[in-house]
Amino acid sequence: MANGSHAYEVVVLGSSNLDLVATVERLPSPGETVLGTNYAEHAGGKGLNQAVACRRAGADTAFITCLGTDAAGETLHRLMTSEGIAAYVTDYEGPTGRALISVDEHGENSIVVVPGANAELSISVVDAHRDVIGRTGVLLCQLEVPIDAVEAALAIAKVGGARTILNPAPATQLNRSVLQLCDVIMPNQHEVALLGGATSLLDAGVSIVVITLGARGIKIVTQDGELQIPPFAVRALDTTGAGDAACGALATALAHGADITTAARRASAAGALAATKQGAVPSLPNQHDIDALVN
Ligand code: ADP
Repeated sequence: MANGSHAYEVVVLGSSNLDLVATVERLPSPGETVLGTNYAEHAGGKGLNQAVACRRAGADTAFITCLGTDAAGETLHRLMTSEGIAAYVTDYEGPTGRALISVDEHGENSIVVVPGANAELSISVVDAHRDVIGRTGVLLCQLEVPIDAVEAALAIAKVGGARTILNPAPATQLNRSVLQLCDVIMPNQHEVALLGGATSLLDAGVSIVVITLGARGIKIVTQDGELQIPPFAVRALDTTGAGDAACGALATALAHGADITTAARRASAAGALAATKQGAVPSLPNQHDIDALVN
């Protein structure tokens, strides 16, 4: 149920995709046609993945996104509702975001992302949800939607007194004006390097840098120094969705009043659990699974 006057624990603003996944023996060369051996469709997009991750981790979650007026848009909207997410959907007369993915026998892939409706998440869409963003406890954003809309949402959340978290993926250069609005920035090791390193992010005005290090866990960096959060030992099967699970668990823990170290431990556990299962949305852990691993 979407209700504009409600104060959510976490508001996620971001992308929604339908992922179309073809399995092939080998990836085609340009101009070549190959036969696929399997086909599957999955919900995806970092925004949607992280909204599901927050909800399953136990947060009262709203999700602001744009969907096309096509069957994929209906499917994704139904998924949000069935997960218990308050969906604030803006419809766009065009395609829902899609990722066209081919994966070969060795796990090598080739991906075309068509942003579609995600490119329509504008400042005016953000403005239309000013009440929801202004009352939230935590705002969680990524970079699969236009950066000016992300910046506008971060600014509204800050004025409203929310904690703001940016997962800077896919990595791109970020202006100081954006970084100053981020309480927490949560890149992986490649993204933090592309952004010039943790120190430069802190110097630009970010309070806390939380770096996800895959199987090596998480590192928290502040002006006071660094803290390593050790990984949880799991039998990793597919790390797709691990980063999104970690972002959702961190946002949820902070919304529930945890300190950053406790929140990062829960994020590390959620990422580890996601790595034990295939896929993104199907692998996102629930609150009980996270509790069981951290305790
Ligand atoms: P991304 O998918 O964004 O690159 P990571 O691969 O760094 O994110 O994964 C996010 C978090 O999930 C890591 O910081 C770690 O805590 C956890 N994680 C990921 N892979 C493993 C693994 N193989 N074993 C244990 N924990 C993992």
